[in-house]
Amino acid sequence: MQSEAPPPDAYRAPVGTHDVLPPESARWEALVAAFAARARRFGYGLVMTPAYEHVEVFQRVGEGTDVVRKEMYEFEDKGGRRLALRPEGTAPVVRAYIQHRPTPPWKVWYLSPHFRHEKAQKGRYRQHHQLGAEVLGVDDPALDVEVISLAQGFLSSLGLSRFRLAINSLGDGQCRPGYLEALRAYLRAHESELCADSRARYETNPLRVLDCKDPGCVAVTERAPQLLEHLCADCKSHFEAVQAGLDAIGVAHEIAPRLVRGLDYYTRTTFEFASEALDSAQNALGGGGRYDRLAEEMGGPPSPGIGFGIGIERVLIACDAEAVLPAPAPHLDAFVVDAVGPTGVGGDPLGAAGVEVTALLAELRETGLSADRAYGGRSVRAQTKVADRSGARYVVLVGRAEMERGAVAVRDMDSGEQVEVPRNRVVAWLHEHCNPSLRDTTHRELGR
Ligand code: AMP
Repeated sequence: MQSEAPPPDAYRAPVGTHDVLPPESARWEALVAAFAARARRFGYGLVMTPAYEHVEVFQRVGEGTDVVRKEMYEFEDKGGRRLALRPEGTAPVVRAYIQHRPTPPWKVWYLSPHFRHEKAQKGRYRQHHQLGAEVLGVDDPALDVEVISLAQGFLSSLGLSRFRLAINSLGDGQCRPGYLEALRAYLRAHESELCADSRARYETNPLRVLDCKDPGCVAVTERAPQLLEHLCADCKSHFEAVQAGLDAIGVAHEIAPRLVRGLDYYTRTTFEFASEALDSAQNALGGGGRYDRLAEEMGGPPSPGIGFGIGIERVLIACDAEAVLPAPAPHLDAFVVDAVGPTGVGGDPLGAAGVEVTALLAELRETGLSADRAYGGRSVRAQTKVADRSGARYVVLVGRAEMERGAVAVRDMDSGEQVEVPRNRVVAWLHEHCNPSLRDTTHRELGR
């Protein structure tokens, strides 16, 4: 029997996903390295959790949210277990905390793909990536300040300046129920002005209505009772301490009384970074908040927590809009050329010069320089063209005459100057010229 032809898009990345290729991927490297270095300076360790979890891990945290209700990629494995691809980053980290019981405060950061079956469009994907941080086990407003400034300073360090930080407090188990009652009563009185979605859920989840983008809902909720006016004394003083801490370290913020964020688990502090350089529908760069009851709700010991997630794709779109973080130009310390060139039909890459290129390249790379070559027995001219495009600082030419003298020619690609360097000195020579700090040390050491 003939097998069916695959659909025309079978060998394309699925809708809402994308490949990240060089040179664009160099921006990802730069961004992740900046975040990792910053997180390390703040005392956070890397945590890696599986791409999928038992479905309960996510159901527990967001039954009232679209992310869990409508968008989660759920499947049954061959053993009949219900699993879900990670739609968000906090629940798996809390699950890992409960499972391993590390000493609090447990401060971790992550980089992970997140999966949501959303309507794909620019800035909204079915697989997107987040850089995030979570702290578990200690309830201290100083941690809210630390976590917020970890995110804020990261965005600034990329060169972004047109973004705002909004903060709010969602109260806790003491003060929120009273507020929710007041909000429900208000929404009930305005039910006819709400969108169908909000009408269906305001009784069970009135906070979600504050989040709704429907113009009717926005108009209604503008006059709705505000949570900040209902905070209990503990939540109020926590929120004031967070604001004072942010002021003390110069992190500009504004209070957004309707900022509830999309997930069910938040308590007290919530925050969001919005870019002014992006369309308002997709301008959230990242956000997060406290989730002091989540660990307990997932069957663990009472353990307060706070964290955030920042969308990498979204941040890169904001970087484009602000013309910052360009893809770094290609760079190599050295490009090694077989200047004898191919001999005979199809070239002779393993002639004496070819062997020398291979050996020299290995020495350069193994001693820490970035170096490359051309492949395929190409002519000297063709190799030089590749060298030009490679962004190499120096081109090393392994030529017949130089080889006979036990030397190679080194061309400075900025000045065009060429010098002859003994073969047994060329690795050290390149180190000294490509790495000025090393040269300084070498000179200092020599001077001693
Ligand atoms: P959330 O987990 O919904 O709080 O999202 C955190 C951040 O991830 C957002 O502020 C966005 O930057 C990014 N993000 C969320 N959903 C998507 C998506 N579908 N596509 C691209 N980025 C997203």
